Amino acid sequence: MSAGLDAAFFRSWLVEAASVIDREADRLTALDSPIGDADHGGNLRRGFAAVRQALEEERPATPAAVLALAGRRLVSTVGGASGPLYGTLLRRTGKALGEAQAVNREELAVALRQGVEAVAALGGGAAGDKTMLDALIPAADSLGTSFAAARTAARDGARATAPLRARKGRASYLGERSVGHQDPGATSASLLIAALADTADGTI
Ligand code: ADP
Ligand code: MG
Repeated sequence: MSAGLDAAFFRSWLVEAASVIDREADRLTALDSPIGDADHGGNLRRGFAAVRQALEEERPATPAAVLALAGRRLVSTVGGASGPLYGTLLRRTGKALGEAQAVNREELAVALRQGVEAVAALGGGAAGDKTMLDALIPAADSLGTSFAAARTAARDGARATAPLRARKGRASYLGERSVGHQDPGATSASLLIAALADTADGTI
C-alpha cells in the first residue's frame, strides 16, 4: 500500500467517528449505567461534535496536526476519565507520525501503538483491566496486518471485557459486581477503530 493516509484521510476518519459515536451514544451510556455513571455516550458525543467543528474551522494540514487538534478538543470537552485518555491517544499517535504529509498503514500501526502505550501510562492500566485498552491494544497489534484485522480485534477485545472484573476506573469500585457487563470505553474504542477501517475501505 502506498503512503496514502494524508490529513484528509484523518479528517474523514474523525468525522466518521463523530457520526458513529452520535448514532451509538445511547448504547454507550446504557453500558455505562450498570458499571459507571451513565455519561459515556454523552461525554463522547459532545467531544466528537467539538472535534468535527474544530476540523471544519481550522483545516490542519498534516496527519499529526489533525490528531493534535482533535486530541486537544477531546481533552477540553469530553470530561470524565475518557476525555484525557482519548485525548492522549490521539495526541501521542499524532506526535509519533511527525511531520509527514502522508503515512502508510504500517506507520500508523507503529504510531497507534505508541498512543496506546501513552494511554496505559496515563491511566495506569493494562490488558485485562476491563478498559478501553482491551480494545485498543489488540487493534494496534493487528493494524500491522490490515484495517479489517484491527476492526475485528477491537470488536472481539471489547466483547471479551464482559466476563472481566474491572481493575481501573469507576467500574472497579464495584469489584465482583462489574463482572457480566461489557466495558463502555472498550466499546467506544471498538467503534473508533471500526470508523477507521470504514474510512480506509472508502479511500484505498
Ligand atoms: P467516567 O468513568 O469518568 O464517567 P467515561 O464514562 O467517559 O468516564 O469513561 C469510562 C471509560 O473510561 C471506562 O469504560 C474505561 O474504558 C475507561 N477508563 C476509565 N479509567 C481508565 C483507566 N485508568 N485506563 C484506561 N481506561 C480507563
Ligand atoms: Mg462514565
